[in-house]
Amino acid sequence: MISKPIITFYSTMEKYLTAFTDAFMNSVLWTWDSILFEVPWYMNYFWGLTIISLLVWGLEIVFPWRKNQSIFRKDFGLDAFYMYFNFFVFTIVISGVYKLLSLAFSGIGIQTKSLTIFDISELPMWLQLVIFFIILDFVQWFTHMLLHKYHFLWKFHKIHHSVKEMGFAAHLRYHWMENIFYKPLKTLGVMIIGGFEPEQAYIVHFLAITIGHFNHANIKITWGPLKYIFNNPVMHLYHHSYTLPQGSFGVNFGISLSLWDYIFKTNYIPEDSGKIPLGFPGDQHIPSNFGGQVLYGFKKMKSIDTEK
Ligand SMILES: [Zn+2]
Ligand SMILES: [Zn+2]
Repeated sequence: MISKPIITFYSTMEKYLTAFTDAFMNSVLWTWDSILFEVPWYMNYFWGLTIISLLVWGLEIVFPWRKNQSIFRKDFGLDAFYMYFNFFVFTIVISGVYKLLSLAFSGIGIQTKSLTIFDISELPMWLQLVIFFIILDFVQWFTHMLLHKYHFLWKFHKIHHSVKEMGFAAHLRYHWMENIFYKPLKTLGVMIIGGFEPEQAYIVHFLAITIGHFNHANIKITWGPLKYIFNNPVMHLYHHSYTLPQGSFGVNFGISLSLWDYIFKTNYIPEDSGKIPLGFPGDQHIPSNFGGQVLYGFKKMKSIDTEK
């Protein structure tokens, strides 16, 4: 005779395991359907990312800012691989884990809807999109600032800053742990706005990818007076500068908007030649291959712990 607590334990475990495998398989199938054009076009991340990348790359080739930079700049292949890795492989693997967490939260009585502070469902669609975009961008600006401020976060963010020649594909070169760091605050941001449909999140996400690709592109764009609102390649290049203003742990943390840097006085653009050295002191210790970079940040290395 098997006791009741054991049966309950097994049925709970089975519920969690099923939730995990269902979520994992759903993301595999969704990605596969996207590749085969079997999802609505505005939700097709695979081809969306590919088309946006080709467009921005085309503009880099026709209107280069640093004219002597190769079309296949240093680490182009690695960064192109990162684009798809961080976008799909990681999302597929982690989707099951998120499903488990949401089940666990609802098991202890936490419902995501209970956190809604602003219900924007009654507002015009364009205003809903703008509000969602602004809140999400601020949350990411703040998270990015923390990645620079705290040593244990910076260890992982160094992978993004190990880019030595800047181009659009560098946008999505980042350590997979960053997905985990950004997620809690982003989720909180989404939870406090009620009435927002997932389809709308796709539109905002596509916009953010396009702006992010441009911010890293080898194209000189400053947006004129709009530079106080929108981030741009000149501003973001200084975010990647090898040397920082004295006493600062970073400048220009903006993701899509530059607004937060101007408000919180972390803006810094001393000139716009585009020819500054990139990276950070000690970047020669960053592994040059993907495998080494995936594990970077976890190992206790003297070189990691002495640099900032
Ligand atoms: Zn950074
Ligand atoms: Zn960057």
